Amino acid sequence: MSKSQIICGIAAAPGIAIGPALVFNPTAAADSAHVGAAEDEVARLDAAIIEVDEAIAEIEEQLRAQGKADEAEIFGAHRMFLGDPGLRDRAVALISAGDQGAAQAIIAAGEEQAAELLTLDDEYLSARAADVRDVVGQVQRRLTGAEGLADLLAAPAVVVARDIGPSDLMSAPRELLLGFALAEGGPTTHSTILARALGIPAVIGLGDDVLRVHQGVTLALDGAAGSLQIDPPADELTRLRGAQADLDAHTAAMRAEIGLPTMTRDGKPVALVANASTPAEALAAREWGAAGVGLLRTELLFLERPDLPGEEEQLGLYAAVAAELPGTPITVRTLDVGGDKHLPAFPLPHEENPFLGWRGLRIGLSQPEILMPQLRALLRAGAAADIRIMLPMVSTLDELRQAKDLLRQAQAQLAEEGVEQAASPQLGVMIEVPAAALNAEALAREADFFSIGTNDLTQYTLACDRGNSRIKDLYQPLDPAVLRLIAMACAAAHRHGRHVAICGELGGDPAATALLIGLGVDELSCGPNSLPLVRAAIRAADMGEAADLARRALECASAAEVRALLR
Ligand code: PEP
Ligand code: MG
Repeated sequence: MSKSQIICGIAAAPGIAIGPALVFNPTAAADSAHVGAAEDEVARLDAAIIEVDEAIAEIEEQLRAQGKADEAEIFGAHRMFLGDPGLRDRAVALISAGDQGAAQAIIAAGEEQAAELLTLDDEYLSARAADVRDVVGQVQRRLTGAEGLADLLAAPAVVVARDIGPSDLMSAPRELLLGFALAEGGPTTHSTILARALGIPAVIGLGDDVLRVHQGVTLALDGAAGSLQIDPPADELTRLRGAQADLDAHTAAMRAEIGLPTMTRDGKPVALVANASTPAEALAAREWGAAGVGLLRTELLFLERPDLPGEEEQLGLYAAVAAELPGTPITVRTLDVGGDKHLPAFPLPHEENPFLGWRGLRIGLSQPEILMPQLRALLRAGAAADIRIMLPMVSTLDELRQAKDLLRQAQAQLAEEGVEQAASPQLGVMIEVPAAALNAEALAREADFFSIGTNDLTQYTLACDRGNSRIKDLYQPLDPAVLRLIAMACAAAHRHGRHVAICGELGGDPAATALLIGLGVDELSCGPNSLPLVRAAIRAADMGEAADLARRALECASAAEVRALLR
């Protein structure tokens, strides 16, 4: 495939990359590898597994020494995949059963595991298929002497691959890896997470067609649009180079604004904080000038493992995130599983309506063995940082009271054990169920703050599954029904001197910033990449105009009318 052509995939990491294609196919060498006697192949396999484990441990160690704890975790998980006896045993069975050598067998065993993971009805777990492929690919390369990405990247290139593993990504020289385009991959594969953290433009999910590009053909990748142009015509190349220069200039201009205060033109301060799940995202948030973390999602630590993370491990995560943004508030949401997120360590029963079922705080309250270690870890992290505890999926005042009770028990336990803890921890609730907004007055009396989860508030207000593409037109965070609930929550909170944040995706939409401020929101929390645009939108807003905009939006009859108003 070398004729000029555009393929569209999923936008994974923003930025434009233009350069020659390097098609990277790490498993190809396995097909032609020499095959010895079965016992020799098993011995070679075992030796290769040990060598790869040592190499990964070294990368993990280096990252930890550099203070990159969450990148190190990725490699810790890789060692777990590699050490899985099921993987080795399957490869040995394949070697013993026929004419497969160690290299083919480990790839086949890994592919079987990857295929199983890909069929799971869980985006995060199925994304781990890339990690399994990464580790078996490394074993195969040891066995065949094939080269890794770092060896092949002799000059700057746009890398094309079926999938790319974190180890290849981390070992490739940053200045030579202009961007990457993958046939597979999902928004939560580790390579995608790392690409965003490292600022490498990437498009994923392009399908097998992309693997047919010729080595060296010019590629132009637009990571924000999710498109890949193969051999673009000269005028298109000129346009893209111009867009790349504009983007660089725009990024530089936004960087220049990082230190400027987030207040409206008429001087009303609006806190601008970030959503994060890992210390790397907290670091990105600091680099974009966030004044703290407004939503630390804690599910990542729980999802990819057979056991529950202990108190110490959780403390490690909360402290590591706080260390990236010292002296700022870090709002940590207690575990929010159920709905579409499953917990391997605590399998949830099948439910007809999981989003209306056992989810979020409902699980925590009925299973204190899950919530208590988290509360203890948060209280302990709060001894050294401004940790704020936030409860997901609150529907009733009674749930808040029960959570307060557990928090008091955790405080009493720590006091009795003589363990240092937060002096006066704040406990807030997410407003993401319409009942919580409608009953905001009562909640505001007893909660320290509100954070509005517009992703779920929209889903529950409009009775519209947020992940169902068939009804996506109904899913409108700007529907006046949702806006009225936001306004109600803000008014009730302010009557009791509480502050209100938005931490759903709407908080990162600069087109909605003035409206949200006008509705009474005090704090906006969004993904690190959205911070510069939201900052600019706050600084461009005026409170009088914003209040007028909010008043008119609340009178609208539909989301379309609201959008027209914002334009
Ligand atoms: C929300 O519902 O808006 C929210 C921030 O929580 P999550 O997207 O994790 O459900
Ligand atoms: Mg939510």
